[in-house]
Amino acid sequence: LGLPALPVKPPARRPTRRIRVGGVPVGGGAPITVQTMTTTNTADIDATLQQIAEVTAAGCDIVRVAVPSADDAQALPAIVARSPIPVIADIHFQPRYVFAAIDAGCAGVRVNPGNIRQFDDKVGQIARAAGAADVPIRIGVNAGSLDRRLLAKHGGATPEALVESALWECSLFEEHGFRELKIAVKHHDPLTMIAANRLLSERCDYPLHLGVTEAGPAFQGSIKSAVAFSVLLAEGIGDTIRVSLSAPPVEQVKAGNHILASLGLRPRKLEIVSCPGCGRLQVDIHALAARVEAAFDGFPYPLRIAVMGCVVNGPGEAREADLGVSCGNGKGQIFRHGEVITTVPESRIVDALLDQALSLTRAEADS
Ligand code: SF4
Repeated sequence: LGLPALPVKPPARRPTRRIRVGGVPVGGGAPITVQTMTTTNTADIDATLQQIAEVTAAGCDIVRVAVPSADDAQALPAIVARSPIPVIADIHFQPRYVFAAIDAGCAGVRVNPGNIRQFDDKVGQIARAAGAADVPIRIGVNAGSLDRRLLAKHGGATPEALVESALWECSLFEEHGFRELKIAVKHHDPLTMIAANRLLSERCDYPLHLGVTEAGPAFQGSIKSAVAFSVLLAEGIGDTIRVSLSAPPVEQVKAGNHILASLGLRPRKLEIVSCPGCGRLQVDIHALAARVEAAFDGFPYPLRIAVMGCVVNGPGEAREADLGVSCGNGKGQIFRHGEVITTVPESRIVDALLDQALSLTRAEADS
């Protein structure tokens, strides 16, 4: 059961080193993963695990939790033990939390070695501890964390400044023979972020984590992220992604999955295709599409369902859909693979689509 193969192949990936984040491979041709970060107080173990369960159900592969306090660090063993997906600890300044995260069994640690370097030989100690525990380190650089020297040298948070900072931070670990690294260079401006990642992929073979930082509220942020990721992924750049939105983590994960599925880089899930409407429209298409989307939220089979605003062009325009509806005169013509099979009153459209989806998936599973 599944959607027809895409007529165009997904883009070829640029070769990168492979690391393992817990059981999940990243880089080296592994499937591109989707990440998010919890927004709970990490020390609130139950709330954090609840949110991790929700993002896992939405298709998240790796989750990051912030560790700004000793209470958060102490919560890590319980969170790691019960999380269904690998947990990365996000740590900015405190080396002792890095060791706590490694001891807790975190699958990765995000650090800013530029901040940690001020402590004597702490980078070396982290490299040895992470190496012994087989824990990769993520180097995260964004405009806000660039040091003054690089800002002055490059005249701002330019792509060159971001890349120089990231590679210098990597070198602090490389000096200790540690190369299990993953890099994120982020910027709120998609064009700067694209240029930085292109440059980085020319200069190193570490797996790259794509993100447009502070992308904005859901609508604006999803578009900015989709634009930036699509350009890079189409060039084969990027091994793992996070859509940063001022919206719940589940929404970030859904957006990430949609971006990958749209590029053929992740198996498609259920897809609603709905017409934009025009002068032939005979139904409130926006409301109907939203009702169908809500009714099929979490539907486990990768059907393509069309919601079309008129009976004249609807089935023809949606010929590639598995199932669909064309509306007119207060009714909905339900069709399968372009053939009308029944007509129902407008109030029954969503139920009829659900019935047909179940019978279609049952029939295909039996065949
Ligand atoms: Fe217009 Fe009908 Fe096409 Fe919708 S399906 S855009 S209403 S012609």
